[in-house]
Amino acid sequence: MVRHLVANKVIVAAYAHPDDGEFLAAGTLARCVEEGNEVYAICVTNGDLGAKTLSKSSKELAQVRQNELIEAMKVIGGHPPIFLNCPDGFVRDHLEELKERLVYWFRKLKAELVITFDPWKMYEIHPDHIEVGRMASEAACFACFPLLYPNHMKEGLEPHQPAEVWYMSPFEHKANRLVNISTTMRKKIEAVLCHQSQVEMLADMFIPSADPRSLSSEDKSQLKEATENFLLMIAQGMGSLSNGKVELAEAFYAIKVGPGHFDNYQEMLQEAIGIPIDELEII
Ligand SMILES: [Zn+2]
Repeated sequence: MVRHLVANKVIVAAYAHPDDGEFLAAGTLARCVEEGNEVYAICVTNGDLGAKTLSKSSKELAQVRQNELIEAMKVIGGHPPIFLNCPDGFVRDHLEELKERLVYWFRKLKAELVITFDPWKMYEIHPDHIEVGRMASEAACFACFPLLYPNHMKEGLEPHQPAEVWYMSPFEHKANRLVNISTTMRKKIEAVLCHQSQVEMLADMFIPSADPRSLSSEDKSQLKEATENFLLMIAQGMGSLSNGKVELAEAFYAIKVGPGHFDNYQEMLQEAIGIPIDELEII
């Protein structure tokens, strides 16, 4: 099934760190914008752990990374990012505040689609990714209850229930949404390259011989092209899930939101009794 992304809807991406969404969903977010949707990014932490050297203070690093996301969102065509300024690496210590803030923003923006981390992803070790995914999922399922955080109603907000949560990069889970990013791949690459501090920190992922703590001038001159090639390889890998229908893609596991739960009873029942579920939807 091939269809366009919904138009006139609000898509909210909830990230842990400023560069998370660019690596995993920027092509999709750019397509959402091109097809007439409003795109917002909520960045939960200030990213102040994201370095392998002491060349910048935590405060300086947080500022650099905030600016990188501001620039990346301009490339994608989304709204300026919303920063919640949780300390990087310590989201677990702020869960209640985080849930309240996410409910607040989902209500205020009237989020239709929430894109975030899969909190149940196998081998996910980063606590911020797990907790942001969990709190964003909870907030999506609980924002519809007016008795939850009633002070929001006094501020003029209304209860709101997003339609779906999409989990980014479901490597071990069968993806059920594959977004064709062939037309927005250039924007994805440009958006990722806005995060220069992280491209350098992850340099050995793109150039195996590179040492991110002391990049040689040769590494630096190759880094842009190597990053681009890496992103293309991942997008081609995701595209291969489509059996030749799509060249470059981002994959997601989408789940419908209900009041206080996910609306996935039919899928769970089908799985339990062995009826195949959810064909891959190519968008
Ligand atoms: Zn991250």
